[in-house]
Amino acid sequence: TVILAIESSCDETSASVCVDGKILSNIIASQAVHEQYGGVVPELASRAHIQNIVPVVDAALKTASATHHSSLTTHEIDAIAFTQAPGLIGSLLVGAQFAKSLSLALNKPLIAVHHMQAHVLANLIAELRPSFPFLCLTVSGGHTQIVLAHSPLQLEIIGETIDDAAGEAFDKSAKMLGLPYPGGPLIDKYAKQGNAKAFKFAEPQIPGLNFSFSGLKTSVLYSLQKEVKNNPAFIEENLYDLCASIQYTIIHILMKKLKKATEQTGIKQVCIAGGVSANSGLRNALKEYGVKYNWQTFIPAFEYCTDNAAMIAITAYYKYLAGDFAELSISPTARAEW
Ligand code: ATP
Ligand code: MG
Ligand code: FE
Repeated sequence: TVILAIESSCDETSASVCVDGKILSNIIASQAVHEQYGGVVPELASRAHIQNIVPVVDAALKTASATHHSSLTTHEIDAIAFTQAPGLIGSLLVGAQFAKSLSLALNKPLIAVHHMQAHVLANLIAELRPSFPFLCLTVSGGHTQIVLAHSPLQLEIIGETIDDAAGEAFDKSAKMLGLPYPGGPLIDKYAKQGNAKAFKFAEPQIPGLNFSFSGLKTSVLYSLQKEVKNNPAFIEENLYDLCASIQYTIIHILMKKLKKATEQTGIKQVCIAGGVSANSGLRNALKEYGVKYNWQTFIPAFEYCTDNAAMIAITAYYKYLAGDFAELSISPTARAEW
């Protein structure tokens, strides 16, 4: 079974070819145009997707052919998958329209994929993968969820953020420190040289398995305002310690709830996913908790953490096996239940 998958929910245009559940290519074109604006500009994202999509799909097929040791053309494709939701509507439309056109032209079925389910199933790409049921902490730019995966297509959200996402907590804190967008990777980099216990920020007291990050944002803002008033060079002089302390707090908030989820469910197969799972501190924390609490832990390879089409392809593979196809009349949506 050959699946061509397209991801275009935000600001990366990506295409992947998957053969019998094995990823043969994962091409990602990131859009640098947004950097100067300090965030993703939806209209510019749509235009960049339009420019990128043909070369990205072409490269995905060529790379897959090279990996497969034989030419893979559009005629070998058994199904075309795309990200249907959630995301920026203008961005989603480009990928959806391209996938639908290809489906019509090749007369091959269409598979609609939920972006957040795909982030979770990125954990099924590697050969060493979790067995069901497993827990997944999905931490990305727009979402923070604890998912209980009963089977590839039965995913249950058992906890989520009531305000900001973990990725937003990284990016907004970074912005207050004067770092460029997206700040998450930079906080990660500077945190390695800082003392995580140098500063203390407020942690939320939210019942159950839900998260909150808006209080942390306020806590960082007030601390910085107070210190900068006395010493204008405060941020500059303490940048590494500030990054380490902010990162430590975010990770502690996340891991506390993940541990609670393992206790409530009794499940010890534990994964992370989403852009923030690229964070080295979180990756280390998961491994440490795994050793301490006897969990088996799984983390997708870096390229499958942030937005990518390989995770769309692997999800589509399971949908293909289940015969879960979409009509050509389907439209993408900015938000979606699952
Ligand atoms: P969603 O998946 O919720 O729709 P998204 O697709 O924009 O949102 P991803 O691409 O999965 O999100 O992740 C992007 C987020 O990951 C950004 O907030 C970015 O700062 C964060 N991120 C990426 N790498 C790191 C890192 N090393 N440390 C911390 N955060 C990181
Ligand atoms: Mg992105
Ligand atoms: Fe994402």
